[in-house]
Parts: sequence; structure tokens; C-alpha cells
Amino acid sequence: MSYDVIIIGAGPGGFDTAIYAKKHGLNVLLIEKEALGGTCLNWGCIPTKAIYQNAKTLKTIKKSDTFGINVSDISVNLEQIKARKEQIVADQIKNIETTLKKLDIDYIEGEATIRDTHHVHVNDTVYETKHIIIATGSSVRKITFEGDHLPIVKTSKELLELETIPKHLTVVGGGVIGVEMAAIFHGLGSDVDIIEYMPSLLPVLDSDISRRAKSLLKRSGINIHTKAALERVTQEEDEYIAHFTEKNKAKQIKTNIILVATGRQPNFGNLPLEELGIDHTIDGIIVNEHKQTNIPNIYAIGDVNGENMLAHKATYDGYQAINHILEKPSHIRFDLVPGVVFSFPEIASVGMNEDDLDKGTYQVHKALFKANAKAQCLDETEGYAKLIIDRDRRLIGAHIIGPHASDLIHECTALINQNITIDAYAEIIHAHPTISEVLAEAVKELT
Ligand code: FAD
Ligand code: NAD
Repeated sequence: MSYDVIIIGAGPGGFDTAIYAKKHGLNVLLIEKEALGGTCLNWGCIPTKAIYQNAKTLKTIKKSDTFGINVSDISVNLEQIKARKEQIVADQIKNIETTLKKLDIDYIEGEATIRDTHHVHVNDTVYETKHIIIATGSSVRKITFEGDHLPIVKTSKELLELETIPKHLTVVGGGVIGVEMAAIFHGLGSDVDIIEYMPSLLPVLDSDISRRAKSLLKRSGINIHTKAALERVTQEEDEYIAHFTEKNKAKQIKTNIILVATGRQPNFGNLPLEELGIDHTIDGIIVNEHKQTNIPNIYAIGDVNGENMLAHKATYDGYQAINHILEKPSHIRFDLVPGVVFSFPEIASVGMNEDDLDKGTYQVHKALFKANAKAQCLDETEGYAKLIIDRDRRLIGAHIIGPHASDLIHECTALINQNITIDAYAEIIHAHPTISEVLAEAVKELT
């Protein structure tokens, strides 16, 4: 059997790309070695956001007095929380299976490897193809420390399978996974300490936003240690102690679980990158703007190209590759990948950071949620929305920390994509009373 495209890996990069390719008339084979939906659906985006909602619900119930509702006897059932999460994952996998079947997309379970530029091997069979798309994703980048073999040391995947909510959780790495897991488990009742190597939490974000995130998370009760490094973990009878340094001072905490969330690395697995001469570094397979490797009929999409490890970026990488194969014009703006951190409150950003810009070349304005009537009705008034415009008065960046940031950011993404000026933005009517009026407020101050 010969294909137009063989896709290796069925995460959000692989399966969405297979669907897009088939809908555009290509004959596709999709291969997955572990679980349809990949990291995102099985151990990443979806299970974490399912449990995030449990934590959010519990937080709301705990402050029910604010709404004049008296609730007593609150208890948390982790078995039910996990069962709900598993049901959501199973339903989403079923949706993908149905779509693959409906579109008559060939799907094989097995570990694939590339034989040569036109042949892929899986389950003792070799398939011929015009193009190959590598969508093999990423896995945990492990760090070593004394005690790293102890049973309390977990990855994000293992954390989702805990039998009990830990009394104390130590999170090593204050990036996106670390902050989201800290927020979720703190929301479910754990005491949490984050140990982050860099001077700031969420160091890739606009520094103003990451400072605010740190102060809001601290205020919520999460202990944050920056310029900090885990040195070792020791066991004293049935107690575990995390020894770390913070700004060169030795410290220790008694802990029940340690999450290592210090980044992820591309899955090269058994792919013969050297033999095929595919250019790569330890951070990913090198691709051009079409997501094409240096071997013209081989593409690499999603986490494995190491550009930006986000599910939606993986999917749009795939569309870009297929558009190139089809010689179809593509206008996807990879400089505008919105990013969201699901903490309490949510954080979202798109486009330029203030840190990327030279002083005097831009204007910025923040509108506070505390002045927004709907936010007050929700009792979620912390944070702000910040818009950045350039000298031509075009919107070039948006950063939001506060309620529904994950949804609000898409208004800004769409408008930046369309090169809107702030003066045109000021003429777009926002309904009242809504959270999105926070953006209209920020616009007003810039016009
Ligand atoms: P993956 O989803 O990793 O899929 C790759 C697939 O390839 C895997 O299923 C793997 O089994 C398969 N594979 C590998 N090698 C082979 C082979 N040789 N043969 C066959 N199959 C193979 N991103 C977001 O955008 N939003 C979030 O909220 C979010 N939350 C996250 C939370 C956590 C805890 C984690 C760990 C990640 C999260 N991410 C989130 C990141 C997101 O999961 C990844 O960016 C996304 O899954 C990348 O998609 P992908 O298709 O490139 O790779
Ligand atoms: P990350 O790169 O975002 O963060 C890792 C953090 O660990 C960094 O802040 C780094 O400074 C710190 N660190 C590294 N080594 C350390 C050490 N020895 N001690 C202390 N701190 C150390 O990686 P991640 O949080 O593991 O996430 C992996 C990927 O998954 C990211 O690219 C992220 O975008 C993606 N993801 C996205 C979402 C989302 O979109 N909501 C959620 C989860 C994960």
C-alpha cells in the first residue's frame, strides 16, 4: 500500500493533521504506539484541566458565604475526581476514533520507524509514502539529585494517578506545568512549595505578568522559592525531607510528594535521524517555516520540533506542513500563538512582551479587573488586562491575568492577526456587563 502522507504519532499534532490531510484529498496513514490523543489528551492538557475544574469548584464552595450560601460538611473524593477525569479523556478519544473512522483514515497501533525517505516500518510491515510527518511529541526531561529514585518523586503523569491528595507537595520547576499543578493541588487542599531555579516564576512570560502571578499565588498560600535549587531528598523513617538552597541559603521542608516539572524533551526514540541525515539538536528536529526538515519530503511538527510545546501549536504546525505538500497558500501566524496558564487566576498572553521591546517604541495600558462589574459579581477581581501598541498604533501584544483570561485572549489574538489599530479597536462594541469590557477599558486609555 502506498500513501501520500504517513504521520508518526497521534497526539494533537498527528491526529488533527491526519484529519486535515484526508479532508484535503490526501491518502493518509496515522501510526501511534501508545495512546490516541498523545500526551495532551491522555496525560496533559485534558486531564489537568478536568482536575483544575474540581479545584475551582472546591474554591468556590469554600467561599460560598460570600454569596450568602451556607455550605457545611465539605469533603473531597479523589476516586470520583479521577473517574470524572478518565471519563472526559475516554469521551474525547472516542470522538477522535469516530472521526478517523468516518473519514476512512487508516490508523495503525504500533511503534513506527523510518526505513528511508519513502518507507516507514511498523508491526513487521513496510509502507511506502510520498511524505513523512514526524509528530512524536515530547517526554519529561529528568534531572538527577540524591534521592531521585525515592517513591515520592513523581512526574506530572504520575501525579495525576495519586491515590490520596498529599498533605504537602513540593514542585520543582516553576514553569507552566509546575504552576498549574501547584494551583490544582493547593486548590484541592495540599500545602505547596515551588522551587524555581530562575529569579522569577513563569520566566517565559512578560516579566510584569510573572511578578503579579508570583504575588497572587503567594497571597493564595502557595510558598514560592526563586533562585532556588533542590539539592537532595532524604528519608527519615516514614518522613521525607526536601533539602534545597534559596538565594544560596540552605533550607529544608518536610514533604509527601515531589513533582519534577523542569521541562520536556523531544521524543526521537528509535527514529534514525543520524542515518537519514535529518538536522536536529537535543531540543528538537530543525524545521523551516513550512515545518519541513532538511530532507524535503520529511516534516516535523509539534513538540518534537521543540519550537513551542503547546497542543494548538502542534496542530497548526501540521496544517502548515499539509498546506506546503498541497502547494496551498498558508497564512498561519506562528508569531501569534496564544499561551495560557491555568492557575488561580488564569494567565494568558499573545504577541509581543514589554521585555522584547525598546523603551519609547511602544505604549501600554492596563485595565484592572477590580473596576469591572461582572468580575465583581463573580467575586474574581484580581488581576488586569494589558495591551501593547506600537508607534503606528497597531495592537502588538496582550497579556491578561484574571478571570476568563483563557477565553479573552482570543479576541486580542484575532485582532492582532488582522493588524488592527487601537483606534479601530475603540469602535468595537463590547456587551455590558461582561468580563471582556476589561479590554474595552484598556483600549479607551490608549485612544
Ligand atoms: P504528543 O501529544 O506528545 O503526541 C505524540 C505521540 O506520538 C504520542 O502519543 C506518542 O506515543 C507517539 N509516538 C512517539 N514515538 C512514536 C513512534 N515511533 N511510533 C508511533 N507513535 C509514536 N499544552 C497546551 O496547549 N495546553 C495545555 O493545557 C497543556 N497542558 C499540559 C499539561 C501537562 C501535564 C503536560 C505534560 C503537557 C501539557 N501541554 C499543554 C503540552 C501538550 O500536551 C503538548 O504540547 C502536545 O501534546 C504536543 O502534541 P504533539 O502531537 O506534538 O505530541
Ligand atoms: P517549562 O520549560 O515551562 O518550565 C520548567 C521550569 O523549570 C523553568 O521555569 C525552569 O527555569 C525550571 N527549572 C529547570 N531546571 C530546574 C531545576 N533543576 N530546579 C528548579 N527549577 C528548574 O517546562 P514545563 O513546565 O515542564 O512544561 C513543559 C512544556 O509543556 C512547556 O513548553 C509548556 O508550554 C507545556 N505546557 C503547557 C501548558 C499550557 O499551555 N497550559 C500546560 C502545561 C505544560
